[in-house]
Amino acid sequence: MKYLDEYRDGTIARGLAAEIARRVTRPWVLMEICGGQTHTLMRFGIDEMLPPGIEMVHGPGCPVCVTSLETIDKAIEIASRPGVTLVSYGDMLRVPGSRTDLFHVRANGGDVRIVYSPTEALKIARANPLRQVVFFAVGFETTAPANAMAVWLAKREGLANFSMLASHVLVPPAMSALLGSPRNRVQGFIGPGHVCTVMGYHEYEQLIRKFRVPIVVGGFEPVDLLEAILMLVTQLEQGRAEVENQYVRSVSYAGNLPAQKILAEVFEVCDRKWRGIGGIPESGLNIRAEYAEFDADRIFHTEKLSAEESPDCISAEVLQGLKKPVDCTAFGVRCTPENPLGAPMVSSEGACAAYYRYRRHAVAGSGSR
Ligand code: SF4
Repeated sequence: MKYLDEYRDGTIARGLAAEIARRVTRPWVLMEICGGQTHTLMRFGIDEMLPPGIEMVHGPGCPVCVTSLETIDKAIEIASRPGVTLVSYGDMLRVPGSRTDLFHVRANGGDVRIVYSPTEALKIARANPLRQVVFFAVGFETTAPANAMAVWLAKREGLANFSMLASHVLVPPAMSALLGSPRNRVQGFIGPGHVCTVMGYHEYEQLIRKFRVPIVVGGFEPVDLLEAILMLVTQLEQGRAEVENQYVRSVSYAGNLPAQKILAEVFEVCDRKWRGIGGIPESGLNIRAEYAEFDADRIFHTEKLSAEESPDCISAEVLQGLKKPVDCTAFGVRCTPENPLGAPMVSSEGACAAYYRYRRHAVAGSGSR
């Protein structure tokens, strides 16, 4: 287990934390984009190893958390129809829609199934030619290529009973929206390593030119994150704003070109509404018109469905790094992983679920540094 041992070594981690403390001369607010990175920060207590001047805030990089309420409602609406089998990843079944969730649709007789890949969804469609099989596909640039491949294969095979409710989102436009907000506090980003494995990191140069904020592409183990934080702090203290790559064992400048090619073949960039944040221009991927016969949104005429967020949930501010989960009055009281009010409490990558799991002593409204 080379990477687990090497990148979870306590001595190396403590050495990096000490070096960060030596270099810091003033407070900095840093954001990790990806929910997997948030999970590691909480699980290993990395934020508590940092000097008091470094504040980590948690970004919108959990795909379950940012899938809009309308999209969840669309999946529920489609899954409730006779003759439909809706398949998706397990977390999506627990995300609350406006009135119910997919687990309740299943409990009430709907055919809702959990899969672990789009390939499984294709298999279900091939085995059930008399049912309409809809794959509810969410995620960032990381998962989009495999989903694009599923649609491409379905077209090649002429699989007429397969379609996809696609709600993919893109990281750089979300970072641009955060940085452009008058309420922005973030001074440096840990870039999402998995997304960059697919897309490379050239897209971030444009953000740096526009906003002059350093971005370090980071991995997902404790030593990865501490090293990325050290690289960010070094840039900030030296007055530099560049894109750097800490996650060199996985990420290249150009990324995975075949994956980008299949993405561009099946999907096109569109405006997208993010749960808790609102609309962000050119921040999503929709199925191209050439593949319209596989677009569940068009097939089931759910394009116009709309919904309002619950006023109790402050996930909008959590996902923008403006507040911490423990600042929410519902945290751990009315909102728990067993009874989530908002999506960030559902997924293990959600900031609220990570705080709940690793900081059970924290009470609602206590705030944090
Ligand atoms: S604790 Fe629950 S209600 Fe509060 S922000 Fe998180 S998901 Fe929303």
